[in-house]
Amino acid sequence: MHSVNRESAAALLTIDLGAIVANYRLIAGRCAHARTAAVVKADAYGLGARHVVPALVDAGCRDFFVALLVEAEALADLMPGDARLYILNGLIAGSEPLCAAIGAIPVLNSLEQIARWQGEALRAGRRLPGAVQVDSGMRRLGLSAQEVNTLAQEPERLDGIDLRLLMSHLACADETGSDASAQQLDVFRQLTASLPAVPRALANSAGIFRGEDYQYDLVRPGIALYGGAPLDEGANPMRAVVRLETSIVQLRDVPSGLGIGYGLTGAVDHPRRIAVIPVGYADGWPRALSNRGAAYIGGHRAPVTGRVSMDSLLLDVTDVPDELAHAGAAVELLGPHQTIDDVARDAGTISYEILTQLGARYARQWLPPAQPGVDRGKAA
Ligand SMILES: *Cc1c(COP(=O)(O)O)cnc(C)c1O
Repeated sequence: MHSVNRESAAALLTIDLGAIVANYRLIAGRCAHARTAAVVKADAYGLGARHVVPALVDAGCRDFFVALLVEAEALADLMPGDARLYILNGLIAGSEPLCAAIGAIPVLNSLEQIARWQGEALRAGRRLPGAVQVDSGMRRLGLSAQEVNTLAQEPERLDGIDLRLLMSHLACADETGSDASAQQLDVFRQLTASLPAVPRALANSAGIFRGEDYQYDLVRPGIALYGGAPLDEGANPMRAVVRLETSIVQLRDVPSGLGIGYGLTGAVDHPRRIAVIPVGYADGWPRALSNRGAAYIGGHRAPVTGRVSMDSLLLDVTDVPDELAHAGAAVELLGPHQTIDDVARDAGTISYEILTQLGARYARQWLPPAQPGVDRGKAA
């Protein structure tokens, strides 16, 4: 992504790498026996993988997951020699030589993919690292029970492949009330029992917080690293990572009974003061937040009113003190008063989508983690 000048941008996205590292350490502290990996697909959930990865490498992370080969290519040069870079979506036909050349580890999701990776190892004349995923019940990626059985009967299908990991993925890990995860845990145990004794991995962020049974040898957190609540209930133990700030472009007073913006929606039976904010759905602020949700001005809640436009949205600032709500005044969209989970809930989506849609027109700044041994308080 090209970088946006702070001076010309209408909004500033601040990404706290120290908070990501703190979240990584909190998770690692919860995993007595498992190594903690980092899922950095989709540009580290929109937060800039080329900034996030080195911070996590410094924190000791050596296992990274992306979804696609194109993402692995973009990060391969940041990997220390002892790091592993896995590709979750598997091996696209024709991509085998490139995948081998950059040293990425494809997550092989079918016997057919295993065969192609074995073919590549034969062609290359060396063993190639691979992971194998089994479908424990999500019915998305991974070998079926029947394929697992075939693989167990015909272990030579893995000849030439340096098997590094057996994994699966949970479909309902964040739903505290669901027993689907316990069932998947059972199926995972059964399916992998007949396969080679290599490290196993099952848990995403939510799975990690389900407890040690789910953690196996390696855990794969994504959203929790980036500050999202891992579970659908209880306090969020993770530190917030992003802040999104913009400023008021223009204010106007609207008489009682008049709608505003596209469609002239959001009319009310009292006069009000409306502020225009230069962030819209083209910046990833969901249009579903039309007449829903809010922003904060000097800590005061200002509800979104009218429809979210492509490049702007409207806030009702009637209840915000005049000395705070003026043209140029700072507006918090994400920060201490409003988390990614708050916005996601108001928009009827999940924090993952809020993060991965964060706009290309924002200026971005990354706050570096505190250096080991340097006391932040003293430095300030
Ligand atoms: C995206 C993904 C993760 C990370 O999930 P979070 O819920 O963000 O922690 C882990 N494993 C797989 C297979 C994934 O696709």
